[in-house]
Amino acid sequence: MTKIRDCNLMTVYESLFSAFGPQLWWPATGPEEMIIGALLTQNTNWKNVEKALSNLRRNNLLSFPYIIKTPLSQLEKMIKPAGYFRQKSQRLKALAETIVATGGLDSLDLLTTIELREWFLRQSGIGPETADSILLYAFKRPVFVIDAYTLRVCKRHNWLNDKDDYRKAQKFFIRKLPLKVNIFNEFHALLVQIGKNFCRTKKPLCQECPLEPFL
Ligand code: SF4
Repeated sequence: MTKIRDCNLMTVYESLFSAFGPQLWWPATGPEEMIIGALLTQNTNWKNVEKALSNLRRNNLLSFPYIIKTPLSQLEKMIKPAGYFRQKSQRLKALAETIVATGGLDSLDLLTTIELREWFLRQSGIGPETADSILLYAFKRPVFVIDAYTLRVCKRHNWLNDKDDYRKAQKFFIRKLPLKVNIFNEFHALLVQIGKNFCRTKKPLCQECPLEPFL
């Protein structure tokens, strides 16, 4: 059993912020584009998502009412670069229909954070990470997003046990940080930087990493 080490997460956050500066996520012009991007980014990299988003943008389709009106086959062509395009097109169309039928994003925004999270988790293809990303980045709710990078960093530093899951990790961040959207937003994006550039799966580059003093 791992011996869990205590840590001051605000100090970790400040070190990352001074190393990388503001990340200003999510890279989207508004909540609709953010939600579409969150669905498309599953199982692919962001470069591929950008290509699909740019196809949708060129065709004025970064909007739920327009997505509903567009034939599935046309949507599939535009979403193709993001991979799993049949499944993603179906899910996107279904989500757009449900959101519009519910009264749009403004109506959803009237829900409490717990209700809103449950609402998104009921939609096809939306798991905890996607739901929480949408809550944080589209609805500005103080929900910490956990991803594989975050779990890896926390476990390598013994801030979490090897077996700890999404929910445990999320509770850990929420317990140790001020409940502030801007901090949750930046911290998640900064951990993605660490995961991509230093805390790699096979060979972590600890000596060059800004989190090395926290080992
Ligand atoms: S690369 Fe090393 S120092 Fe950086 S986060 Fe991973 S384990 Fe920590």
